[in-house]
Amino acid sequence: MNKKASAKGKRVNKSAYAPETRLIWGKSFTPKWDYSHHVVPPISSSSTFRLSTTKRGAKGFIEFAHHADDFTVQSKAPIYIYDRLGEPNKDMLEENLTTAEHGECAVTFATGMAAVSAVCGILLGSGSEIIAHKMLYGCTYSLFKNWLPRYHIKVTWVDFNDHKALNKAISPQTRLLYFETPVNPTMELIDIRKVVEIAKRQNSHRSKAHQILTAVDNTFATPFCQRPFEQGIDFVIESLTKGLLGFGTDMGGAVIGPSWSYDRLLLYRKDFGGVLGAKSAWPILVYGLPSLAVRFTQQMKTAQLVAEFLEHDKRIGLVNYPGLESFNQRALAQSQMQNYDGDFAPGTMMYFIPKGKTPQERHRKANRLVNYIAGNSYTMTLAVSLGNIRTLIEHPASMTHSSIPPEEQLKRGIHPGGIRLSIGLEKAKDIIHDLKKALSKM
Ligand SMILES: *Cc1c(COP(=O)(O)O)cnc(C)c1O
Repeated sequence: MNKKASAKGKRVNKSAYAPETRLIWGKSFTPKWDYSHHVVPPISSSSTFRLSTTKRGAKGFIEFAHHADDFTVQSKAPIYIYDRLGEPNKDMLEENLTTAEHGECAVTFATGMAAVSAVCGILLGSGSEIIAHKMLYGCTYSLFKNWLPRYHIKVTWVDFNDHKALNKAISPQTRLLYFETPVNPTMELIDIRKVVEIAKRQNSHRSKAHQILTAVDNTFATPFCQRPFEQGIDFVIESLTKGLLGFGTDMGGAVIGPSWSYDRLLLYRKDFGGVLGAKSAWPILVYGLPSLAVRFTQQMKTAQLVAEFLEHDKRIGLVNYPGLESFNQRALAQSQMQNYDGDFAPGTMMYFIPKGKTPQERHRKANRLVNYIAGNSYTMTLAVSLGNIRTLIEHPASMTHSSIPPEEQLKRGIHPGGIRLSIGLEKAKDIIHDLKKALSKM
């Protein structure tokens, strides 16, 4: 390699430097990391970026998070400064997430919870109010219950399927309507169009600064099964740890939103610091998103067969899976859960309860079933998380949702005998074989 090409402009005589120094700088001296010849983007693993001149550095700082104000300051090539502000792997992943969700922009975070916090962080302030559906993922519940009130943010819990109550709960301080659909873990659905309509009606006589925004956590469905932007939602949250990566090797989160929120989200991420590591962005970009459609198409077929098996078993009292004819919100499921072709896409998650005369008996049976599976099943593992290529089973009342007190759990729809099942890529007949064995020991 000639000296000029390797040092790009800097005329240095490397042999004048000690081996120790040269082992630090090596040959990798180039002002721009050019990976255009790679078929797979390399893992960009640099916390900081070389700025060839102070002028370029200053320009990078001026351009950071200045998209909405003045698009004219944007250079053709992004100026990377420091990983917390932005780097190539996350940029590529965010571009693809925007595409997947049919949104306007995406900003990634270290975890799904960091993404939930970011939506609250950019939209809520002291004195404002968030209205949340009565049941949410356990840590989101805990964030809303234990932390937001410390910042003098009022949290009001409402049943989002009671549209009158939701409409009535809205106050002049309300800034955000927040929910999940399907709800983790009960698989209850919320009508996205209805929530959007309620916000819109209220907004028609509110000033711009007092508009009510809507946010939905789309983790259970993933954009393959549901794209809430098509129904008018303002913000979508995803835990990338779950179905979007699918292989269970890394954690991540994302907020997908309107373009006006892009700079705010970037600034929030820069200052609160919950950035997604490039090493975790990479597998989501390279393995997760490209395989989402095939994984989910296959896992849904299996989920359908497993749900039908459970439904027909006399030892099971209730199976909540949107793909079942008997699902109590079947029409809503069909109208808002669809894949990119518009075909019904009920997802890979289900919730079921063993039959029993009393809640205690159902709880005991659920424990026995899950423990037998934990100790004996080949195709199912007792573990939290979901959307994985491996089938995972767990007991929400004592695990993922244990931050909600038992009496509150019951009121909000979690049963002590309820079991959450996330279907993976194993053959349906093998999962059913293991379930049959476990049911016989229940
Ligand atoms: C897991 C989960 C989260 C949190 O995601 P993490 O990546 O674990 O932080 C948020 N919402 C839902 C619905 C989840 O299932």
